Amino acid sequence: MARATKKQYAVIGMGRFGLSVATALSGMGFDVLAVDSDEQRTQEVSNVVTHAVTADSTEEEALRTLGIRNFDVVVVAIGEDIQASILTTLILKDIGGPLIVVKAQNELHGKVLNKIGADKVIFPERDMGLRVAHHLTSPNILDYIELSEEYSIVELRATRTMLGQNLKELNIRAKFGCNVMAIKQGSKMNISPSASDRLVDGDILVIVGEKNDLKKLELAYSES
Ligand code: ATP
Repeated sequence: MARATKKQYAVIGMGRFGLSVATALSGMGFDVLAVDSDEQRTQEVSNVVTHAVTADSTEEEALRTLGIRNFDVVVVAIGEDIQASILTTLILKDIGGPLIVVKAQNELHGKVLNKIGADKVIFPERDMGLRVAHHLTSPNILDYIELSEEYSIVELRATRTMLGQNLKELNIRAKFGCNVMAIKQGSKMNISPSASDRLVDGDILVIVGEKNDLKKLELAYSES
């Protein structure tokens, strides 16, 4: 059978996170299979996604029957029942095929998921908590994205002291060891800013760097 060109996604677990992923993917025009062991949950999502099926993902036969191996990506969004999340991941790994993305409830859960071969482990609550905390402590930090244990990206609103200066004068690289990757102004995005680019009101700098260096930068610009 010819493989469809449009990516096929399956989302297992229709809690708040799973529902949000499934709804967003569907909104982007992708085919989405939503799976939940609770019939009420599958019914609630049935008019949002392509297919909604009531099934227990810890039963291998159920997943095989759904043809899960033909999907491109499977998102396991079972949170509270860690055992079910791990079992589901193991079965998916055994069946093979799709990229397996799993939501972890805590660090230990995440470690187990990595060990058993999940392709990507995500921590939505932890990551969102980080982003909110950074924004609350430095209101000029509009977003904070963790790239790895060492590196992050921040979106910093140009402070009053920055206005009128160009990137060379700001000297962020020499002062903090961080790189300005882009400058956003409304819907426009300058993705290769040059040393002579002068900052104007409303500019947002997208900066990548080591976490400690970014922390120093955040502190330096926290008040203006
Ligand atoms: P959120 O915080 O995103 O709302 P959560 O992390 O608290 O969700 P749960 O509510 O524990 O996640 O689970 C999400 C969904 O997963 C629930 O709707 C639940 O019915 C479903 N679920 C749990 N176990 C299974 C399973 N074995 N097979 C299929 N679905 C399951």
